[in-house]
Amino acid sequence: CGIIGYVGTDRSDAADVLLHGLSQLEYRGYDSAGIALADGALDVHKRQGELSALENALAGAEVGNQTTGIGHTRWSTHGPPSDRNAHPHTDEDGRVAVVHNGIIENYQRLRDELTAEGVDFRSDTDTEVVPHLIAGFLDEGLDREAAFRAAVDRLEGSYAVAAVFEGSETVYAARNESPLVLGVADDGTYLASDVPAFIEYTDRVIYLEDGEFARLEGDEIAVTDAEGRTVETSIETIEWDP
Ligand code: GLU
Repeated sequence: CGIIGYVGTDRSDAADVLLHGLSQLEYRGYDSAGIALADGALDVHKRQGELSALENALAGAEVGNQTTGIGHTRWSTHGPPSDRNAHPHTDEDGRVAVVHNGIIENYQRLRDELTAEGVDFRSDTDTEVVPHLIAGFLDEGLDREAAFRAAVDRLEGSYAVAAVFEGSETVYAARNESPLVLGVADDGTYLASDVPAFIEYTDRVIYLEDGEFARLEGDEIAVTDAEGRTVETSIETIEWDP
């Protein structure tokens, strides 16, 4: 029900930034929460229940100084609230982690297709088709961005979706009929379903439109349309009284 993404340039406390963002999205309601950190091996932590359950899990884990990650608060639509149905979801080899708000209407067809190819699903969610689709396109030789785009191309329904890749300091995102706002700061770039998630860090935002894709890399954000053409974005400075 809420997503957050972060790429830090001067900061390496991605886990803290993501958790703080998720706490600011609590008002949207949720039944589970999780984060994935990416600049090394993918490091995924997720728990059913309150954010404090995730925080407790993280307190016991060795979460290093990471610059890049995504986070999610889930309001389940497909599959009951549980640790394994919580986002982020990953492919079988731990190459890509995905968070998603919304509903993938054609997920059953995609899931059947992937299962026939030998993919082992580990959750009941509609979302889990996305990391497996991306992994399939990586196997075909597509680069990360092309694989992300090709996977999103196959989705029908509503989504704000974000992905991070093992060993990469880039966050990829796309939206259709689900809110997604990007934040630009001197110390990095942000994305979220709603401004409060990152307003403490920046008030300079870009609203992503339906059908658009975003790439967050360092302090730069590139927005492209469905055909891959660059979209000229304007950064708005918003007034927000927290
Ligand atoms: N449909 C997805 C799920 O059930 C995402 C729900 C949400 O927007 O939080 O896991």
